Amino acid sequence: MDTLHHDPAVMSVSDLRAAFSDRVIAPGDAAYDKARTVFYGGIDRHPAVIIRPADATEVAHVVSLARETGLELAVRSGGHSLAGHSVSDGGIVLDLSIMRSLHIDAERRTAWAEAGLTAGEYTNAAGAYGLATGFGDTGSVGIGGITLGGGVGYLVRKHGLTIDALLAAEIVTADGRLLRVDSETHPDLFWAIRGGGGNFGVATRFQFRLVEVDTIVGGMLLLPATPEVIHSFIAEAEAAPDELSTIANILPAPPMPFVPAEHHGRLVVMAMVAYAGGAEAGERAIAPLRALATPIADMIRPMRYPEVYSPDPEDYHPVGAVRSMFIDSVDRRAAETIVDHLQASTASMAVVQLRVLGGAMARVPSDATAFAHRKRRVMANVAALYDRPEEAAVHEAWAAGFAAALSKGNAGVYVNFLGDEGEARVHEAYPGSTWDRLAVIKGRYDPTNLFRLNQNISPAKENA
Ligand SMILES: Cc1cc2nc3c(=O)[nH]c(=O)nc-3n(C[C@H](O)[C@H](O)[C@H](O)COP(=O)(O)OP(=O)(O)OC[C@H]3O[C@@H](n4cnc5c(N)ncnc54)[C@H](O)[C@@H]3O)c2cc1C
Repeated sequence: MDTLHHDPAVMSVSDLRAAFSDRVIAPGDAAYDKARTVFYGGIDRHPAVIIRPADATEVAHVVSLARETGLELAVRSGGHSLAGHSVSDGGIVLDLSIMRSLHIDAERRTAWAEAGLTAGEYTNAAGAYGLATGFGDTGSVGIGGITLGGGVGYLVRKHGLTIDALLAAEIVTADGRLLRVDSETHPDLFWAIRGGGGNFGVATRFQFRLVEVDTIVGGMLLLPATPEVIHSFIAEAEAAPDELSTIANILPAPPMPFVPAEHHGRLVVMAMVAYAGGAEAGERAIAPLRALATPIADMIRPMRYPEVYSPDPEDYHPVGAVRSMFIDSVDRRAAETIVDHLQASTASMAVVQLRVLGGAMARVPSDATAFAHRKRRVMANVAALYDRPEEAAVHEAWAAGFAAALSKGNAGVYVNFLGDEGEARVHEAYPGSTWDRLAVIKGRYDPTNLFRLNQNISPAKENA
């Protein structure tokens, strides 16, 4: 069917091809299956059309098309949504992947970056000047999604979240207008997009502050994962200077070349560390982690910052049962809970990831942006990756049970690590008055909830 609406006068795929030329992909096109594939596996949706706008004006056309046809609108930057929100079944995908221009002003230490860039592309380009903006731990994640949700990565303790470096953005709102937002212009919207996700419009480009991060001391440290090592690792990482950010993955050791055979399948702490400072001070800060046990592998070394992003494997589309939460400590009991649950899993890979927070991120007031979890100490993600869809229920139950045992009822969640988990969980991403404030701003800029394929905040009526 060529028509996108019950009223053929509204728009057809041929009209769209005339307007957007080869940047329209529809069912039957050779490029269709690849273009509707997202990072996570198990998501098999068939949009009516995928449109790749070339600039903000074309983005506004696509937004208006969605408004006028009533079709569901999915907004895609890097395609890494855990919930599969960047692809629609039967609707329109607005795919920003060809909008990747980047202008770096090295002197002023700012950059304007289009939302189709990935974290890795931006980091490599900025790295050429010895400068950086902190994103996450994976180069292929889109700057669109990670920025709008918050952005927790290797510079979080030294330089804060990605949104703490956001100076301005350009947003196409539901009425098709292109707004520039910053602390002076539309400050309500600027507050909301720093954590509120894709609820308020399509971000076409961002202006970031750059900081000097040339070489770091970083890489992987592999330790045996006893409860004592897990608990002490987190304690040492919390006591470390802000320059040191760590991501500790606890999992059965994969049979990788640098892991001696006797450790394969045994639980290890696979820690990714980044010390954003001088080499000698970095060695001193990392020494207590190395001293926790005889390392199975120690690949930490001085490196250029962009090297934190190793190349992502092509065509890797994991399927997993995933739960994320904030926790306030990893004592011996919690460490034992981690070991017990990982050992009990029957998944092809079971993993818990612990990210120690604090530092610069925690020095920003909780109500300064829509990311309100500023004072939480550790972010924990549990995941069971599996191959056979019929096993989903077993692994979902494992992940839910594990999360409940770890969080002890006081969880809260980072919106960018939420799956499709229902409205109550979206509320957990926006504690206190954050939700109400977001709902009012949503009502102001998107009263009909055009942008609803996301971790959705229902619009409130002003003065309601
Ligand atoms: C392997 C992996 C590693 C990750 N590591 C980290 C990490 O270290 N730190 C961290 O903070 N997060 C991390 N994340 C989570 C990541 O930040 C979110 O999944 C994020 O939403 C992905 O952004 P994207 O642009 O790639 O995704 P997309 O799927 O393209 O977008 C996700 C959603 O964000 C919204 N959105 C995206 N772009 C725009 C835009 N330009 N305008 C309006 N709305 C938009 C839409 O609602 C969209 O559905 C990771 C995710 C994965 C899969």
